[in-house]
Amino acid sequence: MLRRLLTQTSSPRRLLSSKTPFFSKPSLSPFSSLPSSPDPPSSASSHVEESGSAAAAGTTISVDRSALFNPPDHSHEPTPDSELVEHLKSVIKFRGGPISVAEYMEEVLTNPRSGYYMNRDVFGAQGDFITSPEVSQMFGEMIGVWTVCLWEQMGKPERVNLIELGPGRGTLMVDLLRGTSKFRNFTESLHIHLVECSPALQKIQHQNLKCTDESSSEKKAVSSLAGTPVHWHATLEEVPSGVPTIIIAHEFYDALPVHQFQKTPRGWCEKMVDVGEDSQFRFVLSPQPTPAALYLVKRCTWATPEEKEKLEHVEISPKSMDLTQEIAKRIGSDGGGALIIDYGKDVIISDSLQAIREHKFVNILDYPGSADLSAYVDFPSIKHSAEEASENVTVHGPMTQSQFLGSLGINFRVDALLQNCDDEQTESLRSGYWRLVGDGEAPFWEGPDEQTPIGMGERYLAMAIVNRNQGTPAPFQ
Ligand code: SAH
Repeated sequence: MLRRLLTQTSSPRRLLSSKTPFFSKPSLSPFSSLPSSPDPPSSASSHVEESGSAAAAGTTISVDRSALFNPPDHSHEPTPDSELVEHLKSVIKFRGGPISVAEYMEEVLTNPRSGYYMNRDVFGAQGDFITSPEVSQMFGEMIGVWTVCLWEQMGKPERVNLIELGPGRGTLMVDLLRGTSKFRNFTESLHIHLVECSPALQKIQHQNLKCTDESSSEKKAVSSLAGTPVHWHATLEEVPSGVPTIIIAHEFYDALPVHQFQKTPRGWCEKMVDVGEDSQFRFVLSPQPTPAALYLVKRCTWATPEEKEKLEHVEISPKSMDLTQEIAKRIGSDGGGALIIDYGKDVIISDSLQAIREHKFVNILDYPGSADLSAYVDFPSIKHSAEEASENVTVHGPMTQSQFLGSLGINFRVDALLQNCDDEQTESLRSGYWRLVGDGEAPFWEGPDEQTPIGMGERYLAMAIVNRNQGTPAPFQ
């Protein structure tokens, strides 16, 4: 079956490019205002759209955050405040003091009126960054392979909730459905649930999945790609439970808010966002312990003694811990599994939050709402949160994206696709493949002419949380 999935010789759909991070260590002192943004990185690659077998070309440069070493300048030019800036300033004013970095991040990304994700398509050449599903159709296809394998381990249930958290343009799901379309028993079992906060992206997902509405009031439709029912929800809690479940979270955790802490002579202080006398946002340190310190204590209990010794800065994401607990409880009681793929580390994270606008790293505090904010994913914290939440789940990985896709057979898939390609498609498939599995370091990003494929294979990690009854999922055996 696996081989059949991998060797279908359909034409390659498109060609491709991503985002990846880095670390920075601004030096902070208690109560002082802090240097705002760190030294970010960048990358370049190309994306060619194609429908059917006729390729129509367009070029996109995307950002690999690991090689951009020049910190963006913090702009202090007086400009009229945007709606979001006014909102943030009024929250700080009425709160009577600074807000946490996590609250700032959450408002910037998902404020219902003017959050970064809420009103537009942020991906691709006209957007700010590109992700793996947009790099190559093979990414969604390989996730399809993983999903079918898990479904088989689950005993081929007749009904499955396939939940995707933060589907972006819906590209991963489109490629998954197309890649698995010959497995009718599998596709017929699916009820797709997309957890998406952005009305603009929900609309794009609806179009790309070729949906026809069944009931607009209930946000329910049918995708003509596989005759599959599709539902939209703002949160995972809204998705009905009680049915075997497969959850996919690709580049979702990195968008969840993080709190940042700094070790000082008077103990750990939380980094906060305030408004200075010049009316600009600035970082300050909390004068006393904050509520998030409880999560800091919890996270530190999972750190190794060597990690603890070296800690000067710590970044934690209570939202990620809570989400993981919800996932683990669901998988523990309903059966199935979850796959989390993101850029991150298998150690405690120190200071990784960064901002990207139009494929360049920018200051976190400048023009909030106009740039993507994201942080490295703390994989050990996901593992411990899941294990703590349910005895019925096991956690596997993380392993690198390169190992994950390689073990699932991406090499066979690329060979099969290459049999049906013109020169341009061949080039694009090859660069997309290397982009997904390679570990190449990004050269300094020079501009649109530089199209060196940058590897995401080592920086991105994959982790699975599965119900104990399912045994060990592929390819973690
Ligand atoms: N998985 C996609 C998109 C990644 S970008 C891909 O790999 O291409 C993050 C996605 O998560 C976007 O769709 C964004 O709108 C959504 N998102 C971010 N924060 C969210 C939240 N708190 N609740 C629901 N969706 C969220």
